[in-house]
Parts: sequence; structure tokens; C-alpha cells
Amino acid sequence: MTYKPINIHQMLKLALAAQMEMGISEMVLPAVEPVRTVPQPDENAIAGQIIQNQEIYMAAKKAEKVSQAAIPLFQDPSFENIEEHYRATCNCQKCPLGSTRTNFVYGVGNPQADLMFIGEAPGAEEDRQGKPFVGRAGKLLDQILAAIKLTRDEVYICNILKCRPPGNRDPQPDEMAQCFPHLREQVRIIRPKLICALGRIAAQALLQTSTPLGKLRNRWHEYEGVPLWITYHPAALLRFPAYKRDTWEDMKTLKARYDELK
Ligand code: SF4
Repeated sequence: MTYKPINIHQMLKLALAAQMEMGISEMVLPAVEPVRTVPQPDENAIAGQIIQNQEIYMAAKKAEKVSQAAIPLFQDPSFENIEEHYRATCNCQKCPLGSTRTNFVYGVGNPQADLMFIGEAPGAEEDRQGKPFVGRAGKLLDQILAAIKLTRDEVYICNILKCRPPGNRDPQPDEMAQCFPHLREQVRIIRPKLICALGRIAAQALLQTSTPLGKLRNRWHEYEGVPLWITYHPAALLRFPAYKRDTWEDMKTLKARYDELK
């Protein structure tokens, strides 16, 4: 069997990527004497460049967090009302999904709602009708709402992305980054007292985390000062009906907190 010589550049890149994934900003390399089978590049220079890149990356992440944290909670919204915001955003082309959508899918429901449901992105039927949650998953959401004695007119429903990703693929991080300001403004205008994230992607986007859904459910979080509850996306319930029992428990907890608002 033939072995390729170890490429220290690749090895360091992989190790640093894995560290960043875990949120670790520093790395201590053990002092081992490498076995030299082929002429090696200048490792110190490469390692120095990688560490410098890592520092730039961490500084950028820190600056991003600071700029997010600097946004005051529920300052006067930039837009007076939801119609004005809709008109300002409905022709958005900030990401490539703007050119592939049939319809911009802004949101539906009561703009004065105390409870806001946020999913991930429009599907085929939503794209066709220009409304969120109108396909099979939407019908199931209606049933879930009915089970806790609520209707669409009493809540507000929207998605992280306002345009459909082709083939119903997952939203990409850059698309979510481009679209998120639209949602943030919606939340500021509506000023809900509770938010319920539907599914992993919405929950992770709102909380800026990569924690799995299973570890995010069953406890209250906050998004910009608003209590945030997390449950399964109705589309996941269609694929995995066994999640319905947990979803019902989630809904009972959410409804109990909603009733406390009255
Ligand atoms: S997905 Fe969002 S950011 Fe991209 S074009 Fe549509 S509205 Fe704009």
C-alpha cells in the first residue's frame, strides 16, 4: 500500500476548522518531532498564517456579535406598520432566491398578535400562493392550532426566508443572513409576547446556534427579549408521526403560557 506524504497545511486547516466548529478560539499544538519523508514547506510560516486567519475570523465573529447586541430591544421600528414593511421588501433581490421565486411569501395573520410562529422557508405550494404554511404541513399546523383553540387570525405566521429554496432544499447560511433582517423587522413591528419556532432551522437561526433540536426543545429561550418556545416543524410530523406526541406536549406548554398573558 502507498501512503501520501502528510500535508501539514491541510492537517492544520482541518484541526482549526474543527475547533471553530466547537467554538474554541485557541489551539495548543503538542511539540512532536515530525517524521520527514519528503521536503516540507515552511511550517512556521504556514501555521502563523493560519493562526492569523483564525484571529481575523474570531475578531469578525466578535464584531458581528457586538453589532447584533448593540441593536436595542424594540426600539421604535424603522417601519410604521406591517404593510409599509411589506411594500418595502416584497421585491427583494438580496439573494439569488429572489430570481427563482414565483411569489414573495411575507407572512399572514394578525399583525397585533401576541403569539408568532416562525418556520424556515416557503415550499412549493407557499411559493405558488404567496402565503406561508398552506400546503400539507400548513393544514397540519391549522389542526395543531385548532387543538389549542387558536386560529390563524389570532396568531402571526411567517418564515425565516421569504422566498422558496429550489427543490425545497434547506436554506443556506448566506440566504438566511441576507433575509434575516426582514424577519427581525417583522418581529419588531408585531411585538409578539411569545414566539414559537417551528423546526430545527428556524430555532437555530433565531438562537444563532448549531445545537440540535432535541437539546433546544422543552425549555424556554429568548429572542430579542421575547420568550421563545421550540417544537417540531409540521412537515417533520408528516414524515415522522411519532413526533406528534411530543408536539402535543409542546403545544400544551405553549398554550398555558399564552393563556397567562390574558
Ligand atoms: S430569500 Fe429573502 S433575502 Fe433572498 S431574495 Fe427572498 S426576500 Fe430577499
